[in-house]
Amino acid sequence: MSFSFKSMWKYKCPRCRQGDLFIKPLKLSDPLAMPKQCQHCGQKTEPEPGFYFGAMYISYIFMSGFILVPTLLLVFLLGWSVEGAMVFAIALMAVSYFRFARGARAFYIHMVIKFDPEARDPIRPV
Ligand SMILES: [Zn+2]
Repeated sequence: MSFSFKSMWKYKCPRCRQGDLFIKPLKLSDPLAMPKQCQHCGQKTEPEPGFYFGAMYISYIFMSGFILVPTLLLVFLLGWSVEGAMVFAIALMAVSYFRFARGARAFYIHMVIKFDPEARDPIRPV
């Protein structure tokens, strides 16, 4: 199995599972900033222009479920007011936005790029 949930969760390169997919530390002005290529194996982090367009849909689907389910539970099971539940939903969105946006990108590139055990060795001069 070439898919690794652990390396996806830690935002590691899907090819070598060593290099970082995102520039550290996180900048609030550009939270999705990625290096041009993996520092470890040289894998491009954006294989083609517009590659991460589909990741927006993945982020949307997972974040919707993550926000909607607990918000509806608060209203219908615990009797919260709709206004209170909306404040809760907005706060939950603000807290989890970066995790979902970055996670969707990591998931997307991990679905396309296969793990290459030989890429674990650092880049050798040609
Ligand atoms: Zn790599």
